[in-house]
Amino acid sequence: MTKNKKVVFAGATLLLMVWCTKGYWTSDGNGRERVRDRLSMAYNDDRGGAIPVNLSPEAQAAFEQRERIINALKLEISQLERGCPKKKLEKYSLLPKIYAITPTYKRPVQKAELTRLSHTLMLVPNLHWVIVEDAEKKSELVANLLARTGMPYTHLHAVTPATWKIKPKEAWYNKPRGVLQRNAALAWLRANVKPDEEGVVYFADDDNAYSLEVFDEMRYVKTVGVWPVGLVGGLMVERPKVNAEGKVVGWLTVWSPNRPFAIDMAGFAVNLKLFMSKPEGKFKNEVQKGYQESEFLRHFVTSLDEVEPRADNCTKVNVWHTRTENPPLREEIRLKKEAKPPSDLGIEV
Ligand code: UDP
Ligand code: MN
Repeated sequence: MTKNKKVVFAGATLLLMVWCTKGYWTSDGNGRERVRDRLSMAYNDDRGGAIPVNLSPEAQAAFEQRERIINALKLEISQLERGCPKKKLEKYSLLPKIYAITPTYKRPVQKAELTRLSHTLMLVPNLHWVIVEDAEKKSELVANLLARTGMPYTHLHAVTPATWKIKPKEAWYNKPRGVLQRNAALAWLRANVKPDEEGVVYFADDDNAYSLEVFDEMRYVKTVGVWPVGLVGGLMVERPKVNAEGKVVGWLTVWSPNRPFAIDMAGFAVNLKLFMSKPEGKFKNEVQKGYQESEFLRHFVTSLDEVEPRADNCTKVNVWHTRTENPPLREEIRLKKEAKPPSDLGIEV
């Protein structure tokens, strides 16, 4: 072998080794096994998640040091799992699972909204998407879109009866939206999730904007986790009020601030075991305007003291209650009047 050939050969071998090691850490699970061992070593006591009180300064320092190690290991697992194939993760993930519930209904922007949302959710490790169509039956549009994501999902439908449906000229806030669909998803969870499974339940409406950070923040919630939501309630941001001790003590909102949980649907997640232990927790059409979240959450926490503030003590915005404008389809209406074919004849938009 000439010297040049030797150099090329050594380089190729090195590249192959790097590539194999990367595979070892990211796709075959062994890397995650190792992190799990280190994580269980760090966790090796029975404090059961409770934060100890009245510790000596040395014990406090040791406790904080261990918390830092645990958090670093959790982050390492998240990063390793980001590179794993979705289907494999369903079986082997070490992360608590996020069950994201999305009600959706047919309208001109539906496919655009679901495409945007699915392309965010596809980037989240160990997430199971429960999507519920407000329709008499499941549509091909949604079924095909879900199949293309390659992610774990459940496709359901539950129709809102005409009396609860918003009329074409009626203000959107006049009636609750997505109630029966979210309840159908909750019933599915109660029938299909193992009561001891680690995870959280989150309501991800199809028209919001989500940063990947919001999913990192909710994953390890032990009771009910809360965080700010942008562009909601007539404000730039609505957020939980957190005191100097890091406890939630109220709500920084202007509209209806006296609600027990003055928070938008996108601003909280409930621990899965806690959710499974309270079978009566669900939504109701017959509640006062703005009280859906309070109606649901009252089943899971009785005092604000139990609520966990996330997103740096509720100082960061990772989700926005964006609402999509109905596109002006005046030319489409004109085509219909003139008995001409619609622009989307034979093409799904
Ligand atoms: N939704 C539904 N049926 C309806 C209206 C809305 O399933 O008749 C869904 C919608 O797709 C969204 C959620 O319910 O995921 C909340 O509805 P919307 O965004 O209109 O209300 P808001 O965010 O203002 O509460
Ligand atoms: Mn919305």
